[in-house]
Parts: sequence; C-alpha cells; structure tokens
Amino acid sequence: RFLVIEGIDGCGKTTQLNELHEWLPISGIMPRGVKLEITREPGGTSLGNVLRRILLDPDGEYNLEPLTELLLYAADRAQHVSQVILPALDRGDWVLSDRFCGSTIAYQGYGRRLSLTIISQLEEMVTSGLQPDLTLWLALSPEDAIIRIKDRSVDRIENNGIIFLKQVAVGFEKLAHERFWTQIPAQHSKTEVSTAIKGVIGTVFSNL
Ligand code: C5P
Ligand code: MG
Repeated sequence: RFLVIEGIDGCGKTTQLNELHEWLPISGIMPRGVKLEITREPGGTSLGNVLRRILLDPDGEYNLEPLTELLLYAADRAQHVSQVILPALDRGDWVLSDRFCGSTIAYQGYGRRLSLTIISQLEEMVTSGLQPDLTLWLALSPEDAIIRIKDRSVDRIENNGIIFLKQVAVGFEKLAHERFWTQIPAQHSKTEVSTAIKGVIGTVFSNL
C-alpha cells in the first residue's frame, strides 16, 4: 500500500507523519510482518538529499530557473520511485510519503506557472503510472499557514510569501477534487487532525 500526505507549507504534514509512523504499525491495520517505510520528497534518497539542499537553499545561491527547479524535482522523484518506493512495495511493505506528484503540480504548476502538460508528461515518465492508494490532503488556508511558518526559519520557497502560497493552495484544491484525495481540515489541533487521519486510514484499509 502506498500512502501520501500533501499540503502547503505549515499544514502540519511532518507532525502528522511522525504520529502515523508510531501509530500505523501498532494499529492492527497493517498485516503482520509488513513494514512501514516512511519517506519524503524532496530528499527520499541520498542523491535526493543533495537535490533538496540545492532546491531549498535559503540564500538562493544557485539562482534556480523555474524549469530547472521542475527538472530537479523530477530527478529527485525518479530516484525515489526506483530506489525506495517500488522496492518497498515489491517487498509487500507499506510506504508513507511526505509529498509526491501533487506537490509538483501545485508548486511548479500553479505556483511557478509552468506547463501542466509538461509536468504531467514528466510525472508519467518518472512514476511509470504509479499512483498512491490514498492521498491525505491537509487543507489549511494560506493565511493560517503564513502565521504558522512565520516563527520558523524559512527556506527559499517558504520565503515567497502569501501570493505564491495562495496559488499553490488553489492547485491543491483542484487536485484534491480531480484525483479524489481525502481532505482533512488542518486548522484544528494536532490531536484532532491526527484523530481524523486515523479514522480515514482505518475506514479505507480495514474494509479491504
Ligand atoms: O515538505 P517540506 O516542507 O519539507 O518541503 C520542503 C519545501 O519544498 C517546502 O518549502 C515546499 O514549499 C517546497 N516544495 C516545492 N515544490 C515541490 C515540493 C516542495 O517548492 N514540488
Ligand atoms: Mg516546509
């Protein structure tokens, strides 16, 4: 099984992912003997971690063109799918990824305004059609997100401000409808959000 968490900066993805990392293996939902592989984009492989450093460099030392940025995300994903996600799924393990293709459409498509056609061709090329069994979208308004990320040290993208984040949020909203993602309201407390997520996972996977 392949699960993905998506959402704008500050939506609480990482917090919820850590919670799931502890809970899912002991929840009784995963079959016995099956492991849970927690991973992320960008940065799910050792090359990916180098790409992540370049992509998020707060000093903007590399002066990345939007197209270059898109191709680096694609390279990160190609490596991630082939070396981490597919091998784990082939072993019968479960994979939970912090971001996947949806983030590229939202950030590079809606945020940077790159061609959605090219993005979807790249997606097909690097995933060979692999799609998550469940995508959890932590839905938070850009206004709330800005308040949450205001107090932490921001990376290059988080630095872009509210207008960029609003475009990205529109992208996520559209994707959530088109791809039948599960929407989790993320403005609530950490515990409320995690209860909602666990409820969804329980419902989706216990009936299989
Ligand atoms: O998920 P995480 O917060 O670790 O993502 C790191 C950064 O990369 C975020 O600031 C996010 O906005 C950015 N990002 C991006 N395009 C993607 C994926 C992530 O700009 N496709
Ligand atoms: Mg972030």
